[in-house]
Amino acid sequence: MMSSSRLCRAKRTGEVISSSGYPGICPVFPMADAMTHTCVPMIASGKVLGVVQFLSLFIDSPERVEALRVTLHQAGQYLQEALPVLHAKRLASNLQEITRDSLTGLANRRFLENNINPLIAGLNRRQSKMGILMCDMDFFKKVNDKHGHDVGDQVLKTLAMIMQNNVRASYITIRYGGEEFFILLTDCDADKVMEVAEELRFAVEEQVFRAENISLQKTISIGDSLYPDDTDAFWKCVKFADIALYHAKDTGRNKAIRFEPEMWQSDRY
Ligand code: GH3
Ligand code: MG
Ligand code: MG
Repeated sequence: MMSSSRLCRAKRTGEVISSSGYPGICPVFPMADAMTHTCVPMIASGKVLGVVQFLSLFIDSPERVEALRVTLHQAGQYLQEALPVLHAKRLASNLQEITRDSLTGLANRRFLENNINPLIAGLNRRQSKMGILMCDMDFFKKVNDKHGHDVGDQVLKTLAMIMQNNVRASYITIRYGGEEFFILLTDCDADKVMEVAEELRFAVEEQVFRAENISLQKTISIGDSLYPDDTDAFWKCVKFADIALYHAKDTGRNKAIRFEPEMWQSDRY
């Protein structure tokens, strides 16, 4: 680890650090004899977001020192104005990072949690419906056990691709958990939901998964529910899709099953 004296002082202290009048102030600046450097920290919400370094040829006269001071003052003001924009951009990109699954590139569960309220509001306004598909690979654990985790990962990546390629761009595909995927079919009716589920199930069944010289075929089971027909409580509707999925697993796998109220026995769940 670097000792703290070797870290950028502007970053560490949040203060403007200039070698003008103090040559050698920064032990890590490589050209102290030739250049004068001034490092201005950019601070937002009490944190140093970054440091902008201004370089000029070595300054030896008081007039040039004064000219530099004025220029830096102007540059500092400009940075101050640009800061909120930079800050917002960085937050947005951080947010995108934490709402994306790094293996498959799909949105993750947090993305769903962050976006579901406006999505539902829009749906209700349009008096439209939304299908929910909960998909889970059958006997996925066997892939890991037999061929190793890396092959398992590759299979998941391919599965994610099949999911994305087989549904409309306006549908939202999410990696919900390990090998569980979740698809929201916005503005959809009951027939369409079943149709998409069947197409997806078939596409996976047909796929030859390849990884590390191995070819294998897998199947998925799907449970589906329809918001708001099954319930107008979104997360309950998710639960219903999950219940239908377990019925698909219990009754033989490689099938898509629509939720039915008889499957729901509240004392069991
Ligand atoms: P079922 O048909 O009942 O769904 O059986 P299954 O073997 O697919 O189900 P189970 O839930 O028992 O196993 C899921 C496995 O997925 C267990 C876990 O180790 C594995 N898994 C979860 N996330 C990942 C991942 O990111 N990469 C890999 N390679 N495996 C994962
Ligand atoms: Mg599984
Ligand atoms: Mg599972």
